Amino acid sequence: MILRSLFSVVLVLLPLHAEPTVPAPVRQAETATSEDHPFLDNSGPPRWSKMTPEQLRIDSEIALQAAMDKLRVIEQVTEPTYDNTFGKLANDMTMVNTVMRTSLLSSTCDSPEWRTATQELLARFTTFDTAFWQNETIWKIMQQAAASEWAKTLPPHRRYFMQEVIQRFRMEGIDLPPARRARLSAIKQELTDLAQQFSANLIDSRREWQFDLTPYADLGGIETLHFEQEGNRRMARLDQAFVILSFADDEKLREAVWTAMKTLGKTPHDNSSVIQRILALRHEQARILGYASYADLVAARCMMGTSEAAERHIRSMLHHLTPQHETALENLRKAKAEHTHNAAAILQPWDTGYYTIRLSRDEAPFNGYEFSRHLPTRYVLPRIFAIFSELYGISITECPAAFAKPGSKPAILPGTAEVWAPGVRYYEVRDKTTGTHLGSFYIDGDPRPGKKPGTWTQTISIGKPASPQSPLIPHYAAITTSLPSAGTLSSTAIATYFHEFGHILHQMLEEVECPSLGNYALEPDFREFPSILHEKLAREPEILARISQPAIPAALLTAFTANHRFFQAYDAIVPYHQALIDLELHRHYEQYAGKDIDTVEQEIIRKNSLPATAFNSCPLRTNLHIFANFYAGVYYTYAWNDMLAEDAFSRFREKGLTNPETGDEFRRTILSQGSSKPAAELYRNFMGRDPKPDALLHSLGIKPQKEIPSDAKTR
Ligand SMILES: [Zn+2]
Repeated sequence: MILRSLFSVVLVLLPLHAEPTVPAPVRQAETATSEDHPFLDNSGPPRWSKMTPEQLRIDSEIALQAAMDKLRVIEQVTEPTYDNTFGKLANDMTMVNTVMRTSLLSSTCDSPEWRTATQELLARFTTFDTAFWQNETIWKIMQQAAASEWAKTLPPHRRYFMQEVIQRFRMEGIDLPPARRARLSAIKQELTDLAQQFSANLIDSRREWQFDLTPYADLGGIETLHFEQEGNRRMARLDQAFVILSFADDEKLREAVWTAMKTLGKTPHDNSSVIQRILALRHEQARILGYASYADLVAARCMMGTSEAAERHIRSMLHHLTPQHETALENLRKAKAEHTHNAAAILQPWDTGYYTIRLSRDEAPFNGYEFSRHLPTRYVLPRIFAIFSELYGISITECPAAFAKPGSKPAILPGTAEVWAPGVRYYEVRDKTTGTHLGSFYIDGDPRPGKKPGTWTQTISIGKPASPQSPLIPHYAAITTSLPSAGTLSSTAIATYFHEFGHILHQMLEEVECPSLGNYALEPDFREFPSILHEKLAREPEILARISQPAIPAALLTAFTANHRFFQAYDAIVPYHQALIDLELHRHYEQYAGKDIDTVEQEIIRKNSLPATAFNSCPLRTNLHIFANFYAGVYYTYAWNDMLAEDAFSRFREKGLTNPETGDEFRRTILSQGSSKPAAELYRNFMGRDPKPDALLHSLGIKPQKEIPSDAKTR
């Protein structure tokens, strides 16, 4: 998963370069990279100890003032050139970095102060952002520039960027009458607040969730879990709830835990009205802009092209996947019938995890504990880096890092990077041939209070290759995860690392003319492609043998592969179900308008004849991807990118998984390109053709009845 600011695309377009002719606030901005403004500073690794909520208010004010002054300069352009219009928009990242660094700190060091400061920052930037896209003077200048004779002779990436900016103005409502534009601004502002509210409710809800186990005498299957004692009561935390659902023998207990998990995002931190409002506002926004639905609005900037194509693709894949999944569910039901001595037993949602694990012990036994013993983090990570080094001609090295308390005056040695919490590690990525420092990343693995659970990669600042005007600025990013840096890694944890390193490589190896053409501005339904592709390496016996210490024995690798295939029959369909649910909500909103989200869930299940297991134990009201960041209407990205990744992975298999020639081609055609070309074109440049589902179906052991046409569209 990758988490980026709500404003990523917008803010990178914001002008922040100081002009010699503009007044006082810009002079402030000229010094913005000095010691005093850590949120704006690009001179080296970020200085986290100086980043406080108070400092954020000062720095964001400077960034905003500079942006407004720059707008005034563009407004005065009488003879547009690329450099004084689009070129000017494309080149600064100060404001983006401010938002990204804030976003990282508020999700890893949550506190009421950070929440307030983040909310203020986002509200201010939304106001400014909206004003920018609705600025008629700038719009006229941009149109005039785009229609110029010189524009026709620009290199393709610049023409593509111009086209993207023009489209973005239209999608922000520049052609609409003033009253409707004003309404759009109000909607955007409210949606920003609601996303924050949704996220805050969920964080509080997850933190406070607990389950009283005291009435349950039978703890068979979960004897090894240590539960907290509150007086006479024995309480389970949320992370333990997932273990209970998979291992507890007592069905009544599993059912009770599953039911209790339905209160997440509900009681007492209720997201119901937040969700209803978000969906209503998104729909209104789409209709004002002339789109039938919110899904259509977001699809206009996607590889898939339309939400109809997305739904067609998901349904066509479900057509192939469903028979295998139904058989798998029937096998689980039979296992339950046998276990409970009840031939008519019905498989319940709280049974799926439990019986999948039981059945796997018979059909595809695998000792996960023994497997992990071969994967100690301290050996594995450098070996994964060695694989990337071989593939892409880079080196990844851990460098000294130290934590200093925010607001303190740290005595940090030269050459040591500051980190935002104890235990965060710091790595540098360099090009092996030239030695160039391409970027750096952090790994924040240890759980602690105030840190959001889950794993994601977050951009911290966007770099830029060297140019005659400026030296190279390295990229910075962070992997935030709940995988402790000490100990060993499970097969899932290994895949998670490969996935997140995919995001890191996608950023670090980017070589584009300006930050606005970076990978983070890619079509949303292509962003997970490199990560899912790298994740596939983590399941290859050859790679696992290479990164393990001592090397995993061949028999254990064979068992792992068989076990992975066994679980695929249950898991492969999940992203397709979730994609369909998201498309239902955002394509056919009118059917669900004003209804409680729990009722909506039930209606979607019935309407699409989905198995009850299409929803895991956590309901829609906890879905951050759909309600708090930008995968709304494009949740199909995961399923779609898995198909692209399996297809593209066939090229890695052809000549050897770590073949430098294939790696170099992938780096050149995909990783280095950012968003300087449409995603469909990037894909074709690597594959020499459009995507096909055959490789994915083959990997799942499914024989397609007939050829499925690809739904990929070139915009
Ligand atoms: Zn990802």
